Amino acid sequence: MLGSVSTLLLSVSPARHLLAAEASSQFVAVRVWPASVYTRITIETTLPLKYSSFPLNNPERLVIDIGNAKLNEVLKTLPAKVLDRDPYLKQIRISQYTPDLIRIVLDLKTLVDPQIFTLSPVENFKNRLVIDLYPAVVNTVDDDPLMTLLQDYRHGDILSDGTTTPNARTNIPNNRVPLPDPEPLTDELGDKIKDILKQQKDTEKTNEKQSNKQSKKRKIIVVLDPGHGGEDPGAVGSSGLYEKDVVLAIARDCKKKLESNGYLVYLTRSEDVSIPLVVRVAKAREHQADIFISIHADSFYTPIPRGTGIFMRGINQASDEMVRYLEKTQNNADAIGGFQRVGNKKMMDTSKLNLMQTQTNKHSLKLGKALLQQFSKINKMHKHYVERANYIVLSAPDIPSILVETAFISNPEEEKLLASSSFRSKCAQAIADGIQTYVNQTPALKKLT
Ligand SMILES: [Zn+2]
Repeated sequence: MLGSVSTLLLSVSPARHLLAAEASSQFVAVRVWPASVYTRITIETTLPLKYSSFPLNNPERLVIDIGNAKLNEVLKTLPAKVLDRDPYLKQIRISQYTPDLIRIVLDLKTLVDPQIFTLSPVENFKNRLVIDLYPAVVNTVDDDPLMTLLQDYRHGDILSDGTTTPNARTNIPNNRVPLPDPEPLTDELGDKIKDILKQQKDTEKTNEKQSNKQSKKRKIIVVLDPGHGGEDPGAVGSSGLYEKDVVLAIARDCKKKLESNGYLVYLTRSEDVSIPLVVRVAKAREHQADIFISIHADSFYTPIPRGTGIFMRGINQASDEMVRYLEKTQNNADAIGGFQRVGNKKMMDTSKLNLMQTQTNKHSLKLGKALLQQFSKINKMHKHYVERANYIVLSAPDIPSILVETAFISNPEEEKLLASSSFRSKCAQAIADGIQTYVNQTPALKKLT
């Protein structure tokens, strides 16, 4: 309804502007997603935008001109959405530069490597103009490896199974001692940057204590992957509960529980940021993970289905309508989260990988069964076996990988469960206990405990 009101208002423009006004796009939503790895600005419109951009130095700025558009109340709210803790963005200024041109000036805190692109409508989103501000200089040794992986992803150097192409710029040595994730960041993001030197020192100390994968005694490495984030809320419950928030809370809790049991744990994201699916897999491989668990909350288009689901990679033999629906929604996360490049079709020798995959699948099944057993203590199970689906996030050929759909956020009863910290804590414990069971059954890992 709002859209038609605006159109009416615009139609009273002078005649010479009438044609342009009718064809011009309306701003319907604006968002800013500050994160340590990159900051994203999203401008959502009724029609695709025509834009151009250029940088200005001293001080650092990025100018974006939007053609054939009129500044409206929605776009005017953008400057107020910039947070002090944003690592890259100082402030935003907007003006109606000429009658048909809007100028947006981003005042930057540091030199950035911007990526600006448009996305076609998907799911609940209309047309999006996306401005991603990546750090201009990525130090591959000292920074969180996620930054490096995101850079590689942007350059097409990460394959759909999370492996990197031979010409990937990272050149990460095989025996690299993994870097720990920063602690969960909320309002302390600014402090994080100030503390980066201290963190590096701590990392060196930690690395001394931790032996890497080649040595006899090392810690078991678990990568937890809280689904969705940033632009991509995941499933949204009828009470307004966001999957991305629920699963991040579970992952953080589970990380603590596993760490207290002596595991080395990394999260694919520890803040509200959208990360491409293949980058999540690449991060697990980069950390040489022994175990990968992707954490989600299910949804369906009716409120009836309920129960925890445990998934491993594989062809769904049952041609189950729900699994097909879930595959589509899972793998659609990149489009919703706002990434243009979905997977990568570059060819490589897959025979070795296939062999590895067979072995990995056996372990995934064992891990899945262990999780199934634990979750059946705290919730109804959606199926009493490990389900199979072609989820991109489960595509690491060499890491036992499981996706846990903790409960159905689309089921009102289970949404209540997911909203409660006690159930989330039970989920975290079930994952930790399931991992422990799997480790106990796996001699190569058991000897590390
Ligand atoms: Zn999900």
